[in-house]
Amino acid sequence: MKIIMLGAPGAGKGTQAKMIADKYGVPHISTGDIFRANIKNGTELGMEAKKYMDQGLLVPDELTVKILLDRVAQEDCKNGYVLDGFPRTIPQAEVLDQALEELGDKIDFAIDVDVPDENIVKRMSGRRACLACGATFHTEHVPPKQEGICDRCGKELVLRDDDKPETVLNRLKVYHDQTQPLIEFYGGKGVLRTVDGTKSMQEVFDSIVAVLGA
Ligand code: AMP
Repeated sequence: MKIIMLGAPGAGKGTQAKMIADKYGVPHISTGDIFRANIKNGTELGMEAKKYMDQGLLVPDELTVKILLDRVAQEDCKNGYVLDGFPRTIPQAEVLDQALEELGDKIDFAIDVDVPDENIVKRMSGRRACLACGATFHTEHVPPKQEGICDRCGKELVLRDDDKPETVLNRLKVYHDQTQPLIEFYGGKGVLRTVDGTKSMQEVFDSIVAVLGA
């Protein structure tokens, strides 16, 4: 099953993507995580991506598309995957579509986790991330067992630069301008399913599972 998660930054699509990937035993692929791993390792790609990410801007399509296509060509993706944060522009979606078409394949579902803007800024200021292992928490909704410490690896939790309020406003604008048109794009292909992302994490997950019909 090949699934795309759509939704504004902070809509909770990353959390849901991980839960879906676990349930269906397919990889969770986050382009944001791939960029962050590259930043941490000081690669050239990481240094280039960071310039954009720190301002809440999108990393250029040329860089993003290549890393995504390389990733989905790997062996563990042959039974499907959950894409989280890709595509984020119409050209990215078109490249993915074409690459799949060449393999006689297609996206099964694009799930839009719908959350109004008013909720987003508030939510994101509560987000905490572990830069060591990539785990994410929320001070209100998914608190770590010990404040400021990652449950999974014991390292320090931080508010990511791109989750800071000024950056979030930029990311929301970028989302509306460049990513939201994908809702219509996948709607036109008959694979769009919308779930109410303002509900609890479990309720959102249950509605996604219901939509996937498995
Ligand atoms: P995320 O963790 O998905 O919220 O992504 C964090 C940041 O990484 C975004 O704000 C972008 O700067 C960059 N990024 C992640 N995925 C993409 C993508 N598909 N296209 C362009 N930039 C991306």
